[in-house]
This record gives sequence, C-alpha cells and structure tokens, in this order.
Amino acid sequence: MVVIGAGQAGLAGAYHLRRTGFEPERDFVVLDHAPAPGGAWQFRWPSLTYGKVHGMHALPGMELTGADPDRPSSEVVAEYFAAYEQAFDLRVRRPVEVRAVREGSAGRLLVETSDGTWSTRALINATGTWDRPFWPHYPGQETFRGRQVHTAGYPGPEAFAGLRVVVVGGGASGTQHLLEIAPYAARTTWVTRRPPVFREGPFDEDAGRAAVALVEERVRQGLPPRSVVSVTGLPLNDAIRQGLADGVLDRLPMFDRITADGVEWDDGRRVDADVILWATGFRAAIDHLAPLRLREPGGGIRVEGTRAVADPRVHLVGYGPSASTIGANRAGRMAVRDIRRLLAEDAVAV
Ligand SMILES: Cc1cc2nc3c(=O)[nH]c(=O)nc-3n(C[C@H](O)[C@H](O)[C@H](O)COP(=O)(O)OP(=O)(O)OC[C@H]3O[C@@H](n4cnc5c(N)ncnc54)[C@H](O)[C@@H]3O)c2cc1C
Repeated sequence: MVVIGAGQAGLAGAYHLRRTGFEPERDFVVLDHAPAPGGAWQFRWPSLTYGKVHGMHALPGMELTGADPDRPSSEVVAEYFAAYEQAFDLRVRRPVEVRAVREGSAGRLLVETSDGTWSTRALINATGTWDRPFWPHYPGQETFRGRQVHTAGYPGPEAFAGLRVVVVGGGASGTQHLLEIAPYAARTTWVTRRPPVFREGPFDEDAGRAAVALVEERVRQGLPPRSVVSVTGLPLNDAIRQGLADGVLDRLPMFDRITADGVEWDDGRRVDADVILWATGFRAAIDHLAPLRLREPGGGIRVEGTRAVADPRVHLVGYGPSASTIGANRAGRMAVRDIRRLLAEDAVAV
C-alpha cells in the first residue's frame, strides 16, 4: 500500500494502517516530497503563530499539548509531526516526489516517483493543496510593474512596510493578511469577487456539519471542491471587528483590469499599487493522478466517503469535505476501513 503525503491527512491514514496491523515498509510506505516533517505547515509564514490558527485538531492517538501560542505554527506543527512519526514508527520516506500513478498489471497501480516505482493494490492520496496555489488571470496582469505575491509565498507583514498593497480574496487568508499588513503598509485596498460573509455567533457542531455537507455534495457530484472555510463564512472575532471599525476591511468589488501602476475598474476608479497580494486560495494537488482519468466532466473527482467512484483502489483523504485537520483525521480512518474491506474481498476472490 502507498500513502502519498505526510501532512495531517497522510499521517492519520498511516496511523490507522498501523493500528490495523499493517507494518510500515513491509505492508505500506508513506512518501512525501517535502524536505522535513510538518506537511504544508512547515512552509507557512512565521507571523502565523500557533495562537492564530483557528481550531487545529491533534492527530489521532497523540495530543499536542503545552505549545507556546506565540511560536510560529510552522515550528510547532513540524516538531509535533516529527515526534508523531517517531512515536508510531511511520518511517516516512522523503524527499520523494510522486510524479504519476498509472494502471499496472493484475489490478495493481503503479506509483512512479523520483525514487523508483511502487506497485500497490490500494492508494491513499493525501497531497493537500499547498503545492497548487490558485492565481486568477486578469487583463493587463503581465504589464504590472510592481510585485505580485500569492499567499503561498507570503513573507509576513514587515515586507510590505511603506508600500501600497492591493489584497485580493475574501477568505481567511485575505483578512489575516490585511489585518497584519495594515499597520506597516502605506495603504491597503481589499478587493473580493463576492461581498464577504461574516458569521455572527459561535460556530457550533451543527454549523460545521452543515458546511461540510455542502462541500460533500459538490464532491459527490464530481464538481471541484470548495474549501470548507469558503462555505462557513468569516468568524466575526475581535480582530475582524476592529478591522471593520478601522476601515481596513472596507471591501471593494473585484477590479476589471491591471495596469502598469495598479488596478482599474470599468467605472473609472483606479488604485495605484506597489504590490498585488493574491489571497485566492489553492486547488487540490492531484496532477499526478491524471493518468487514471478520475476527473468528471464537471472538473472534480467524484468521491463517496473517501473512495474515488471511478476507481475504488484510490482514496482521497484531505480532499474536499475532509480538507480540515479534523476532517483529515476522520477521512484517514474511513479510508483504512474501506481498504481493509477491499483487500478482504480480494482475498476471498483469490
Ligand atoms: C494558511 C492556512 C491556514 C490553515 N489553518 C487551519 C486551521 O487552523 N485549522 C484547520 O483545521 N485547518 C487549517 N487549514 C487547512 C489545513 O491546512 C488542512 O486541512 C490540513 O492541514 C491539510 O492537511 P493535508 O495532509 O491534507 O495537506 P498538507 O499539509 O498540504 O500535506 C500534504 C503533503 O503531501 C505532500 N505532497 C504533495 N504532493 C506530493 C507529491 N506529488 N509527491 C509527494 N508528496 C506530495 C506535501 O509535501 C505535503 O507534505 C489551513 C490552511 C491554510 C492554507
């Protein structure tokens, strides 16, 4: 068995494989192309401290306790994942880049990597989204003389000192960037495609379940998943309330074009800018699965539980409705249960 990715989703999957009696290296391998433990967290900006992440769930079987909320989450989570891999002896192989997964012989899949090819009866794909930042295209983008940065390369607020910054995107990252940058920048401007939705009141379990159900329904229909956060709305916490009161979170509709010096709207408005910061999200990093032709005409992969409908050997964990730390945990368990069933049926068939 092959697990691709050693973020929250891949480690949860590996943990459940181990608990079920599968031995690392003998029965399964975990492959990851990052240089060190930590999944995508290791690449997140230093000002995203552990105290600022909203609801990170621990991995199954080992709590994350006593972390200093002022330390960067990149460090806290990387250390926790490293300890977890050791505690459960998961023996993640890295850096190993999975380049393609193809049909093999005798009903097996071939996983082609930078370190050889594996043949497997089942696959847990847990490759997240960090490796596929989404950059929208707007007319004139290539003429812009300033700097364009994506959340994936966000360097922290100090880098924007004295600059005029346009932040694009109405999600959690966009608002966090704005609130951080505003005290340093000469000016910030916030543009979003749709008016942002702020969520009053507590985000309880029912609201969470309803949000996950919406994403789940898209994935069941074979549509590209939307992030769970995109359907939950932005929590009206103290920082956001302050940003609204200060005008930092005054939002403009999406501009119509980019010029050499900034952005412009059809109604004649314009804003000069030194930097455009694209907080426009990520897409599932699943290009290596392309040879299996799992995509539906709608552009997404149809998934029931965690299993790809078009190929029951392939499980997508951390995809769509399970793209949160708690969702990844549950999906890891569900995938392993399903794989055991598949292998048991195979054994009977033999
Ligand atoms: C800025 C930001 C803040 C967030 N904050 C929260 C939060 O507070 N709470 C929460 O629940 N969720 C949060 N999320 C979402 C959260 O990060 C994810 O739900 C979860 O951590 C993702 O885990 P994952 O294992 O699916 O992906 P990742 O952590 O991205 O792990 C995927 C792994 O796969 C590897 N990989 C990818 N492609 C390949 C390949 N081809 N070959 C080999 N290896 C590969 C990568 O190296 C990586 O280690 C946040 C997301 C972002 C972007």
